[in-house]
Amino acid sequence: MELLKQKVKNEGIVLAKGVLKVDSFLNHQMDPFLMREIGREFKSLFAGDKITKVLTIESSGIAPGIMTALELEVPLIFARKQKSLTLTEDIYVEKVYSFTKRETNEITVSKKFIEPGERVLIVDDFLANGEAAFGLARIVEQAGATVAGIGIVIEKSFQPGRELLLKAGYRVESLVRIASLEDEKVAFVGEE
Ligand code: 5GP
Repeated sequence: MELLKQKVKNEGIVLAKGVLKVDSFLNHQMDPFLMREIGREFKSLFAGDKITKVLTIESSGIAPGIMTALELEVPLIFARKQKSLTLTEDIYVEKVYSFTKRETNEITVSKKFIEPGERVLIVDDFLANGEAAFGLARIVEQAGATVAGIGIVIEKSFQPGRELLLKAGYRVESLVRIASLEDEKVAFVGEE
């Protein structure tokens, strides 16, 4: 996705240990026009896949997730990282190790929002080791629903997440793929 590539190139800041900071358009300040295009892009990729829900994880997945859900005309669910006091009903719980925060979070989704037989599109802002995507996929499968695909805004292809997800049989669609963040420079797959 060319517009997103330009944003990453012009505004992304490479931090130590392979982390890309994109807080001017995705993770803190958000660019609504870019989010709209991201939603349209995921719609064109998954339009024929009978998606019934989009599932993401708070907080950075919510913006691309809601725009995708809007385009696909289905609800968005976001997994919570902290157990909410109002989530007293039955919940699905999975453990997810956070690459950027270096801690394990429990993520939860209320059971009433995913029905058996649903076709769920997982959307997230970044793919690194695949921990978040696998955690969300385990929740979908606990519910007896199907993971119809995994849509990623920024994939760091030098980390193993994509390969592990493909090996597990999931379809992964990433809007930009980063081959390397070495020497504080962003190199995209196919342009190294
Ligand atoms: P994974 O679970 O695939 O290891 O990592 C993906 C999750 O970690 C995403 O939900 C995202 O919030 C966070 N993450 C991983 N790498 C980066 C990065 O380079 N920059 C930012 N801002 N977040 C990242």
